[in-house]
Amino acid sequence: MTSGIEHVAQRVATGLLPDRAEVAEAVAQAYEEARANDDGDVADHIPSLAEVDPDLFGICVTHVDGGCHDAGDAEFEFSIQSISKAFVYALVSEAYGPDVLHEKVGVNNTGLPFNSVMAIELNDGHPLNPMVNAGALATTAQVTGDTPDEQWDRILTGLSAFAGRPLELDEEVHRSEAGANQRNEAIARLLESYGRIEDPVATVDLYTKQCSLRVSAHDLAVMGATLADGGVNPVTGEQVVSEQVCRDTLAVLASTGMYEKSGEWLFRVGLPGKSGVSGGIVTIAPGKGGMGVFSPRLGSAGNSVRGEQATAHLSRALGLNIFASGPYSPQSADGQA
Ligand code: GLU
Repeated sequence: MTSGIEHVAQRVATGLLPDRAEVAEAVAQAYEEARANDDGDVADHIPSLAEVDPDLFGICVTHVDGGCHDAGDAEFEFSIQSISKAFVYALVSEAYGPDVLHEKVGVNNTGLPFNSVMAIELNDGHPLNPMVNAGALATTAQVTGDTPDEQWDRILTGLSAFAGRPLELDEEVHRSEAGANQRNEAIARLLESYGRIEDPVATVDLYTKQCSLRVSAHDLAVMGATLADGGVNPVTGEQVVSEQVCRDTLAVLASTGMYEKSGEWLFRVGLPGKSGVSGGIVTIAPGKGGMGVFSPRLGSAGNSVRGEQATAHLSRALGLNIFASGPYSPQSADGQA
């Protein structure tokens, strides 16, 4: 089965972020507004995540020209968790083209929690999409390399290229997560039984390591801006993945990036994003820039409460919602000839 989508060059939506002063003001306002919100609880299914200071809060917006605006704890480092899934998907898509993952993993929302076993069973072993754990394990299993060490090197160098700096493994989080990983181990064994992955032990280990990479909200904004910039990291100038891979990745994120609340997120924020249970969210405004937020208190589906509030504020304030439009007028067409 192929995706049935013609992967031909497409016209690019135009428009940049507003000017620097306006973005700086919106970031400051989003920070102040969301900081007052203490709703939600820190994740505790991975013991070391439960120890984080719940009041930490950082925001960064990065333009496609490389300019950045930080607020609060934007440089605080935390484990990337599920946000890694978006970037590993992009690396594997880059290596094999769009159809391999489309066939092996899929692009549709499960409507069920990220670590659901039932979703796999209800779909004859098909993992459904690369942003839930089953699909992420099946995606990570495809990372290029002849050995798990070579595959890890590809993940590490690839995600570092997105961030524009060498990322490091958080050894403590990795140990803590590896010791509480029974559910992911069970999912990997189930996928093996359906012939979806070959080496469940090595795959779970790689996946757990990718989730334990340390990033900051600032890093997430640069990583997101790389996806917004046709795959070119706006800070380093490196072409990390192709334009086509960015487009595919953003489409997958729009429908599946925010767990089973992806529809509500899209309704509220109107942009593709990916969250992780440590409290990070990366959001992409195609052609404009990336946003990274970090705040560890989560809502019921696992999305950062303050992070979602701040991102929604920025989307509104900066005019980023990809579904927003206004009536045509000759003046609005000025300059578009
Ligand atoms: N490593 C975490 C897990 O597999 C990631 C969960 C998440 O961020 O959604 O449980």
